[in-house]
Amino acid sequence: MAQAKMIAAVVTEPNKLVFEERAIPEPKQDEVVIQVKATGLCHSDCFAMTAGFPGIKLPLVPGHEVAGVIVAVGPGHRTAGWKEGDHVGVGWLGTCCNEPVCEACTAGDFITCPKIRVTGIHNDGGYATYMVARGDSCARMPEGMDFTQAAPLCCAGVTVFNALRHNVRPAGALVAVQGIGGLGHLGIQYASKMGYRVVAVSRGNAKTELAMSLGAHHYIDSEAGDVAEALQALGGAAIVLATAFNAAAMTKLINGLARNGVLIVLGADHEPIEVTPLQLITARKSVQGHPSGTARDSQDAMAFAQLHGVKVTTKIFPFPKAKEAYDAMMAGSFRVVLDMTQE
Ligand SMILES: [Zn+2]
Ligand SMILES: [Zn+2]
Repeated sequence: MAQAKMIAAVVTEPNKLVFEERAIPEPKQDEVVIQVKATGLCHSDCFAMTAGFPGIKLPLVPGHEVAGVIVAVGPGHRTAGWKEGDHVGVGWLGTCCNEPVCEACTAGDFITCPKIRVTGIHNDGGYATYMVARGDSCARMPEGMDFTQAAPLCCAGVTVFNALRHNVRPAGALVAVQGIGGLGHLGIQYASKMGYRVVAVSRGNAKTELAMSLGAHHYIDSEAGDVAEALQALGGAAIVLATAFNAAAMTKLINGLARNGVLIVLGADHEPIEVTPLQLITARKSVQGHPSGTARDSQDAMAFAQLHGVKVTTKIFPFPKAKEAYDAMMAGSFRVVLDMTQE
């Protein structure tokens, strides 16, 4: 009998995405094979598309927001508990080293492992009808959740969810969400459902209604005046979730922080954020980066989303339109998701 085939969208050279037929892989030690049902497109997919990330090698299948069904389970303790038919999500963390000398892994902080292999960057990802994942990088989807909802929650969702839950403030504290895109529209919802007073910050007024419908209580047009002053007029932000890929805009938010306030940097701009020591020292303010999270974190982000009604605003493309979907994502449309079941 001929071996079953899968379709993969492969970056063969920078900015070139080619569809290829491949044999469906067999799971090796510690691996599962997933039939991919949906893949979210993240701005970080541009690292794959341009081959612009440390350790990246072409050809490569991008995609690190994956949701699907386990169809084969390999041997090994990392696959224990998984069985065919389980619905799972896979995010940024493909594999970590788990070596006894790894400072991060031995602390259980796997997402910061210096030898991390990223899904869709170092390992083939979810722009394919089937994908291999290590068993411990799979997050269990909550019962009844759509694949197109689950996929974006495994990167965009868990990123904002983790940043917030690792920076807990008293209920009612002011949380500013800068940028209302793939990350920001989820940040507003998570922050609102966690009990914070939420202010959305974006350019222009076009997204005011959208922000309010997502759960924001205030809206600041960053072009209408001094953003920091506007935040201080609301009492100052305990947390700013900076999701837009714009370091200059982040710089302008720092003076909008309250005492002990933290600017959490999520938008991966290459430009510097500018801040003077005095801006931070006197009121104990800080600027902090935050990576996404582990499979367990994704599991928690999905469970919270289902429990509290956090919904991803999706723009669905069929898999054969992967390149068009990528271009739409880069143009700022959110959250672009490939439906792998549509031909
Ligand atoms: Zn991502
Ligand atoms: Zn490690």
